[in-house]
Formats: sequence, structure tokens, C-alpha cells
Amino acid sequence: MTKLTIKDLDLRGKRVFLRVDFNVPLKDGVVTDDTRIRETLPTLRLAIEKGARLVLASHLGRPKGARNGKYSLKPAAKKLEELLGKRIEFSDDCIGAEAETKSKVLRDGGVLLLENVRFHAEEEKNDQAFSKQLAALCDGLFVCDAFGSAHRAHASVVGITHFVKQSAAGLLMEKELAYLGKAISNPERPFVAILGGAKVSDKIEVVENLMKIADVLLIGGGMAYTFLKAQGTAIGKSLVENEKLDLAKKNLDDARARNFKFMLPVDNVIAPEFKPDAPAKVVDVGAIPSDQMGLDIGPQTIALYGAEIGKAKTIVWNGPMGVFEMPAFAKGTLAIAEAVAGATDSGATSIVGGGDSVAALHQSGVADKISHISTGGGASLEFLGGQKLPGVQALTEK
Ligand code: AMP
Repeated sequence: MTKLTIKDLDLRGKRVFLRVDFNVPLKDGVVTDDTRIRETLPTLRLAIEKGARLVLASHLGRPKGARNGKYSLKPAAKKLEELLGKRIEFSDDCIGAEAETKSKVLRDGGVLLLENVRFHAEEEKNDQAFSKQLAALCDGLFVCDAFGSAHRAHASVVGITHFVKQSAAGLLMEKELAYLGKAISNPERPFVAILGGAKVSDKIEVVENLMKIADVLLIGGGMAYTFLKAQGTAIGKSLVENEKLDLAKKNLDDARARNFKFMLPVDNVIAPEFKPDAPAKVVDVGAIPSDQMGLDIGPQTIALYGAEIGKAKTIVWNGPMGVFEMPAFAKGTLAIAEAVAGATDSGATSIVGGGDSVAALHQSGVADKISHISTGGGASLEFLGGQKLPGVQALTEK
């Protein structure tokens, strides 16, 4: 990476503005999953060791520019205190007198967490004056470890970089970029990409970009049906985006012309309704009756996809193979999770992103086998789609 990282900075005695991703799930004011906080601990520990005076900022949820106790970061401060085993100061606002005073009394290795930056509408507008107020809380040093927000040009991710001397990647950001960067620029082959989830429209750029860099593309989930319909296959009342049929057909034609291995399900688990207790059965592709819908990939597809995954040296996976939230339609996704873990055991590098795929890994008990679980579903997709992430571009070149 040609961007500065936290390892390049001289932090001792300086106030450092560290943008983290503490966008954690809460229930009754308690953090229910602290993965995102734990993922930033290496960066925090390094900064503390280097004697930085840390001013942490994050967003949480979508408070839409207004103060809302439901989205307070106070529970995250409490969790961080437990995890780091040290006192965390808290400021009730991310700008203004309280934040400034509390940042100025920090000692070397001290940590202050600011309240949710999205309590101000200026955050998402990447407002200059607001960015400057955030930058006033540090001594010219900005570190970004919020990979999950790097695809957003917001004030605490991008705007602030215009008002500091140096902007560097944190260790988590560096790790994300290293894994994803290698996958798109210098992958070990065969490179198998697996895409699922509801919509083609969310992933069309990723499909097109992965067709340029991967060797095999395995498609599952709701998005498969738009491709199947585009090639003239009957899909019953499965999820479909009719306005994307032309584009889907173009991708399939391109794949055929280039001899690219673009794989679609050969069988499906179908049901008459989108309901957990709907009667499910397996049919071959093309045999979905007009009053039924495809809700998961079938066993033959699992076997075919599994064989491709088994041969892979690089695997990228984003999106479930079916309606994973309902046990009757979760088998495909869980089987893919196990196949990806198995291939990793045999030496492949695997990168998994997106909430459902990551949940499937945990449910199958294989999450610890994956080479890299991305903390940014949306950001990793944009990266794999070949787009530049504004939060990365804004960092200082080495
Ligand atoms: P995404 O947010 O695009 O990754 O899509 C995830 C959602 O896609 C999950 O909530 C799944 O239930 C849904 N999904 C996966 N397969 C299907 C399908 N065959 N039909 C409808 N929805 C699906």
C-alpha cells in the first residue's frame, strides 16, 4: 500500500483523531455483538503504546442528523473499557467545548470517545466547517480504521483529512486493503468468486469487474433468477429484476464469448410462498412451476459449486445462496460456508464479506478458518467492483 499507515506516524504526546467503526448492534443500552470494537483493538493498543492521546469517533445507526439516545455510543465506551481494561473518557457531543476541553486534558495513552458523529447532519454532507471542527480536536494527525465507512465521503472519513497534516490507515484498514487488494491485483489462481443475495442491481458492477479478474463466478441467491430468466429459463414467481434482464443477458453473452466460467444454479429449493413453514421441494433448473419461487440452491448445485471452491486458491464470497434466515432455505448458504472453510484449510486464501455470509460462517462454526472476514460488506463490494474508496483515496501518500 502506498498510503501512510499508523506505523509511519510519530504519535507521542499528540492528540490523534482516530475514526473507528463502532457501529455495533445494541439492545436495551448494551452492546450485543462487540466484533467491530474488538477488530480495532490492535490499532488502539498500538496507538496507546506509541503514547498517542486518542480522540475516537464513530457513527452508529442512522439517526439522520439529529441527537437520539437510541444511537448513543455510550454503551460502546463501556464495552471498550472492558476490552481495553482502562478508563475511557466520553464527550456528549463530537464537536464543541466539551469535546475540546476533554481532548486537551488527555494524557499520553489516554482515550476519549466522542458521541455519534451522525447526530450532526453535516457529517453525511461532508461539510467543511464541521470537518474543521472535528480536526480541531487533534494535533494534525488523523488515522482511519473504519474500513466499513471508507466508501462514504463523510466528514469524519474524508472531510477532516483536508484540515490535518497527516492522514493514515489504521491496522484494520491496512489489513482489509492488503487482502482485498491482493485479490483484485495479484490473486493466486484459480480465483473463484461467489456472489449471492437478493438483487442483481446491487452487485452488477461487482459481477462485471469480477468477470475481468476471477476465473470462475458462482451465482446464487435471489440474483440468480434474473440471470436465469435472461437466458430464457422459466423461473416461476422467483425474485426477478426485469429492468436488469438486458444487462444480465449481456454479461452471460460476454462470458460465453470469452469462455469464462459463469455458473448458475442447476437445481433449486422451491416453495409456493416466501414463508419459513412453506412446503419446500427440490426441482431442476427450468422446472419451477409458475406458482412457485426459488428460495435456495439445490443439492446438485451445492456439489458443483463445492467442487469449484475445492479447486480454488483464492476465494471471494459475498451474499447468501438462499433465504438464509429461514432454516428450510439455509442449506445452500451453510454448505457454501463449509466448502469455503474446507478449501481454506487446504491452502486457499478466502475473503468473506456481507452480514449474511459472515453469519453463515458463524452458524456453521467455521468463521475462524476463513483467511479474512471483511468488516465492511458495502465497502468491500465497491472495492471488488473496481471503484476507488473515497476514505482510502483521502489518506496521505507515503
Ligand atoms: P443482500 O442484502 O443483497 O446480500 O441480500 C440478502 C438477502 O437476500 C437475504 O435477506 C436473503 O433472504 C435474500 N435472498 C437470498 N436468496 C433469495 C431468493 N432466492 N429469493 C428471495 N430472497 C433471497
